[in-house]
This record gives sequence, C-alpha cells and structure tokens, in this order.
Amino acid sequence: MKAVWFRSDLRLEDNPALDGACEVGQPIRGIYFATPGQWRRHGLGPNKLGWIRANLESLKQRLAESGVALDILQVDDFDAIPNALLSWCEDHLVDQVFCNAEPGFNEERRDTGVANCLNEKGLKLHRFAETNLLDFDAIETTTGTPYRVFTPFSRKAREYLSDHTPAPLTFSKLDQPSSDGDSGCDEWEQEPDYPGHLIPGEAEAQMRLKAFLDEKVDSYHEARNVPADEGTSYLSPYLAVGVLSVRTVFAALQQQECDGEGASTWLNELLWREFYRYLMYHFPSLSKDSAMYPEKEPEWEVHNERFQRWQQGETGFEMVDAGMKQLLQTGWMHNRLRMLCASFLVKDLHLDWRLGERHFMYYLLDGDFPSNNGGWQWAAGCGADAAPYYRHFSPSRQAERFDSDRRYRDAFLPKNTTSRDPIVDHALQSKSFNEKIKELRDVS
Ligand SMILES: Cc1cc2nc3c(=O)[nH]c(=O)nc-3n(C[C@H](O)[C@H](O)[C@H](O)COP(=O)(O)OP(=O)(O)OC[C@H]3O[C@@H](n4cnc5c(N)ncnc54)[C@H](O)[C@@H]3O)c2cc1C
Repeated sequence: MKAVWFRSDLRLEDNPALDGACEVGQPIRGIYFATPGQWRRHGLGPNKLGWIRANLESLKQRLAESGVALDILQVDDFDAIPNALLSWCEDHLVDQVFCNAEPGFNEERRDTGVANCLNEKGLKLHRFAETNLLDFDAIETTTGTPYRVFTPFSRKAREYLSDHTPAPLTFSKLDQPSSDGDSGCDEWEQEPDYPGHLIPGEAEAQMRLKAFLDEKVDSYHEARNVPADEGTSYLSPYLAVGVLSVRTVFAALQQQECDGEGASTWLNELLWREFYRYLMYHFPSLSKDSAMYPEKEPEWEVHNERFQRWQQGETGFEMVDAGMKQLLQTGWMHNRLRMLCASFLVKDLHLDWRLGERHFMYYLLDGDFPSNNGGWQWAAGCGADAAPYYRHFSPSRQAERFDSDRRYRDAFLPKNTTSRDPIVDHALQSKSFNEKIKELRDVS
C-alpha cells in the first residue's frame, strides 16, 4: 500500500505527491493529521480550522470516487506525528509515504523527524518540492545571493517563467476498488463552520478562477483598489489550504492569453506571494518571529486598550474600523485595508507588528504564514523591500480616494451610531514614529 500524506495541499489536481504515489502503483490510501496543539501555537483560529475541515470533507468525497480512503487522525502536535504515522503505516501495510513540502521551520523539522522514524523501520518518505511557480534555488542576484528587493526579483521571476513554463499535473480518476465502501476513519471533531459564504472544494475554486479570468482580470489593475467592488479574485482562501495550486492559476492565466495591464498586475500579486515564500525558504529565521532587518524596529510600546480597540474596529477612524470589522465578520479583508490597518497599528499606535500578525492569523480564512508575515513586515518597515518608514497611510485620505461613496464603510460599520473619538492624533503619532526611526538610524 502507498500513502499520500495531505497537509496544505487539499487537492487532486497538480498534486505531485498524489501523482508520485499513482506512478509507483496502487492501492493508495490518504492520511491527514489534525494537530490542534501545534495550530494553537501557530495562532490559527476557528475560522481557518473550519475552512480546512470543510475542504477536507470535499477532498474525502473526491478521493472516494477513485476508491481512495482518507483517514483523518488527531494528535496534539507535530512531535507526535512520527510515531502516529508509523503505527498507521503498520496497520495498513503501507511501505511508502508521499507528501509535498510546505514552507516553515517547524514543518521542515517535522518532515525530517518523520523521514528518520520511517527510515529506521525500512519505510520511505518521498517528499516533493513545494508546489511553487519558481525554483527558489535558481533565482539569485548576479553575486549569487538571494534577492531581498521585490522589483529585481520579479523581473528575474518573469524571465524564468518565460523559459520554464510550469506545467500543472492532471489527475486521472483511479479505478481502485474501494474495500467495502471504506472511506476512512475520522477522529477530528471540528465543525466545518466559518464566516462568509465560500463554498469549499476544488470544483468551486476552479470555477472562481475561470470566472475571474473571463470577467475581471482585464480591469484588475483599477478595480483592485476599490474595496467595495468585488474586483479581486477571492482565491486566497483556496490557495492557503492548497485546494488550488499556484501553478494551476498561472497556467490558466497563460491559456487565457490575457496580456493587458490587468493580467500583468495580477501576475505581480502572484509573484508577491512567491516572493514571501522565497524569503522564508532562504531566510529560515523569518519563521521564528525575527524581522528581516531587526535594526529597523523601534522599541514598541505596550497599550492593551489601544490594541483591543484596534482588534474590535473601535479606533474612531472609520476606514480602519471598517477593515477590522470586515475581518471579524467575514474572515477576510481586502488588501488595501490590510495595508491600512497594519500601517495604523504600527505607525499610529506604535504597537509591535507581531501582535497584528497574530490577530490576522487567528481570523483570516486565508491565513498563510509567509504572506501574512511578509505583509506585516512590509507594513512595519522592517522586512525585505518594506514600505519606507516615512510612508504612512492616512485613514481619511484612503477613505476619500477609495471609498468616496462610503459603500465599503457602510457595509461594515454599525448603522445609526456615531463613531468613537479618534484613539490617537494621526498627524502627531506619525511624526513621533518618524522621529523614533530617525533616532535609530542615527545610532546605527
Ligand atoms: C498585513 C498583510 C497581511 C496579509 N496576510 C495574508 C495572508 O495571511 N494570506 C494571504 O493569502 N495573503 C495575505 N496578504 C496579501 C493580500 O492581502 C491577500 O493575498 C489578498 O487580499 C487576497 O485577496 P484575493 O485572493 O482576492 O487577491 P487577488 O488580488 O486576486 O490576488 C491573487 C492572489 O495573489 C496573492 N496575493 C495578492 N496580493 C498579495 C500580497 N500583497 N502578498 C502576497 N500575496 C498576494 C494571493 O494569493 C491572492 O489570492 C496580506 C497582506 C497584508 C498587507
């Protein structure tokens, strides 16, 4: 028996581990480990867990159509996986396990532990590279070092993609006889309960991708800025749990032969995603709460009340509050608001970006460690290619430019209530943030 160990790749299409197992031969059985203790430590909240759960159910059904059972086991954390997996392999006479690599230091350590444990008993773990657009070892500066600035990285990435078009793998239904309708055991008591109306599963993700490319990508460069309009793809929750692979997305974009400004801008956003994964691959310390440039971090202040008001969307700055309430109500936030709310926490409230990173991770359905960490370090000014320290998002200016008709604010702010007094003075706080950073620069 061969096993496919699913993690953040809850799909059949373009799944190298599944493809590898099929090549070696059937029968195949799937396994997934729910690790609540580990997830708690990684800051995942019920929204993302409910979303994973719903997508696992959809995966289970699709696997069953090919006669492949999926067992969902629960252990506390990554450390418990090697023994649990070994004993599961013994129970099901599995001699080879196939999986796809994931970003992150703990994930890397988990896989090394599992490979060693299986190896000792004569079993083998086949681990395929992360399913990215680029080969991260092939993208380097002229001096052979990894890029830390996005624009030259993206130039090189586009060159690379024109020579190495990623070809997503296609899954053909297996004719594996299911043994007595066994669709696998399920030990994880998590409800598929999450806010919003997203439909889980690969078919839905593919449909959304097609609809976006047919109807919206051409105007993306403009429409993506207006948070009240549905001008973006909303694919991030599907990409975050691997229901859709980024190679499938890229291939669909290419097939569509969209070559206007909208398509190019959208590809750039996919490359930002790639850039943050690339950084995490080359700079593992990013996985351990470190900033790329710690010397650019001021001493953060501690203000519990300010933090709580920011979390609840009660800062008295309407645009920030609408963004934070969108997150609480729907488990998603428009990118423009993510940038504004992150900048506000750091540059107006002078609070540590790590607090914001954790809050986002807890509520986001698309919570994705590299993109979230990268986005926060960008906003805080201490990451690779971060926003310059003196660039402050003004909540009122953002509202004037991108929500002049109030549609976005009205959708998320409570009706018939007056806004609270502003929590701080934006101009004064911005000024004092800049002074702190200038002091840091003078000292170093
Ligand atoms: C502080 C902060 C935190 C963030 N946290 C996350 C996160 O946890 N998970 C996440 O997927 N994205 C995160 N982003 C990036 C971005 O906001 C979302 O990817 C985007 O809003 C998702 O909406 P969409 O799918 O409609 O994107 P589209 O605009 O349609 O873009 C297509 C895809 O490109 C990728 N993408 C787009 N913008 C970015 C970006 N700036 N950085 C990295 N990838 C991008 C996403 O995978 C997205 O699905 C964060 C950004 C900031 C500023």
